[in-house]
Amino acid sequence: MRIGLIGGSGFDDPDFVSGMRTVKKGTPYGPLSSDIVLGKVGDVEVAILSRHGRGHRIRPSAVNYRAHIWALKDEGVTHIIATTACGSLREEIKPGHLVFPDQFIDMTRTRKSTFHEGDQVVHIAVADPFCEKLRRILAETASSEEIAHHPRGTVVTIEGPRFSTRAESRMYRMWGGDIINMSTVPEAVLAREAGICYATAAMSTDYDAWHESEEPVTWEMIATTMRKNVENVKKIFFKALPRIRFEECTCRTAIETALV
Ligand SMILES: [Zn+2]
Repeated sequence: MRIGLIGGSGFDDPDFVSGMRTVKKGTPYGPLSSDIVLGKVGDVEVAILSRHGRGHRIRPSAVNYRAHIWALKDEGVTHIIATTACGSLREEIKPGHLVFPDQFIDMTRTRKSTFHEGDQVVHIAVADPFCEKLRRILAETASSEEIAHHPRGTVVTIEGPRFSTRAESRMYRMWGGDIINMSTVPEAVLAREAGICYATAAMSTDYDAWHESEEPVTWEMIATTMRKNVENVKKIFFKALPRIRFEECTCRTAIETALV
């Protein structure tokens, strides 16, 4: 068992990892955003990857999601905890709150979302796109650490890099979206294809564009809230790790019934 962490801001310098070594990896899908950091947190083997590269250089549409998932799988990763900043589409999801989504709505347009582009057609099942066991562990950890959170939610993933218009933001609310980001799809889908359990810790940083009495989101707003709250995400990660077990999970076998 090895736990992968795909990190946003705040995980750039993983000084919390013992026996740390850095692996520079090539993949059949091209380069990674960053080197992979391997090591241990307590007794648990981890592999850490920075989604947007150090210093956030790579925009969401340009992230090589296939290379990332392939490389983590190749390093023996069985579970991924992905962190992401997100906008809130609900009054009750306040800036600084964590959300552990159980559904997504895919509004991306230009991304490679399957490993299988050749002769082999694959229709992967994603009715429940996040690992339920892993999501529950994250939510229970947040509860026991008394960190403000929402145990479920629907994340809308947009293409970006621009933020939403007010009309779009209102529409996503009507659709049942709770939070909005630019990175969950195709990351979650590719993890499912690769047979890796995948869950997300999303940190709400702003109210997107729908909220009439709040300023529309800016990058500065996101960065400020992230800086203030990144310790909560780290705490969840550390405390959740020892609770994760290598056990039967449908995430690992979904691909077997997806091949045409
Ligand atoms: Zn699973």
